[in-house]
Amino acid sequence: MIALQGIRKSFGGHEVLRSVSVDIAAGQVTALIGPSGSGKSTLLRCVNLLEVPDAGNLTLGAETIRFSPGVRPGPDAVRRIRLQTGMVFQNFQLFAHQSAVQNVMEGLVTVKRWDKARARERALALLDKVGLRDKADAWPASLSGGQQQRVAIARALAIEPAVLLCDEPTSALDPGLAAEVVAVLSELAREGMTMLMATHDLRLAAQVAGHTVFLLDGAVVEAGPSRALFESAQDPRTREFVATLA
Ligand code: ATP
Ligand code: MG
Repeated sequence: MIALQGIRKSFGGHEVLRSVSVDIAAGQVTALIGPSGSGKSTLLRCVNLLEVPDAGNLTLGAETIRFSPGVRPGPDAVRRIRLQTGMVFQNFQLFAHQSAVQNVMEGLVTVKRWDKARARERALALLDKVGLRDKADAWPASLSGGQQQRVAIARALAIEPAVLLCDEPTSALDPGLAAEVVAVLSELAREGMTMLMATHDLRLAAQVAGHTVFLLDGAVVEAGPSRALFESAQDPRTREFVATLA
């Protein structure tokens, strides 16, 4: 469903991703773990082309893009990839001047050109799914962090992406609010949503993600079923890093 093969990305002279390969089957949830600066966010951003890799291939459904230095994918390819990916950020990044339901409708109206009534109906159903139907008309600033992140998840799901990309979805939240977000992501996992999420949250990685990839200095050290990686990693560097997660 998603395959990253030999992905390389440099900023200036600094090679941040050094031939990274990751495969995610449809319906699988994969956690991306690794120290700060290991390249987790950059890898996620390469999947939806917020960053363009210098080399490697990205396959998403029927679409394969081959990257080479200095060549940017065309606007049609970017649009097809963006329609298949939803992104959730650490700091929610809701549109502050729009209500919760308007945030969730936005992509349907502007990208998919749905009429507002139909988009609102879908958006209300998604807010219901994340437990926030009663907050539809609330402004983001009046919501808790956990509620804002659940609106952001509903917004990312609105276009029915093939994969949900989450960059540290719980790390700006207090434990209780993080638990609300973990519960929503767990439910999505049970329903078969394909997800790739960068996280330092052991609960999210170990409980929601069936697979985990450990990235260190822009390279995959070890990847496999989460339980094996957390309980009996092969590589001493993985064991050492896993021990630091709370
Ligand atoms: P964290 O756990 O702190 O979120 P991360 O694993 O997500 O870290 P990245 O944000 O992917 O790490 O960054 C990897 C490296 O790439 C870092 O050294 C960072 O400074 C560098 N980097 C990321 N984006 C850019 C950019 N746009 N320009 C220059 N350097 C960048
Ligand atoms: Mg990051």
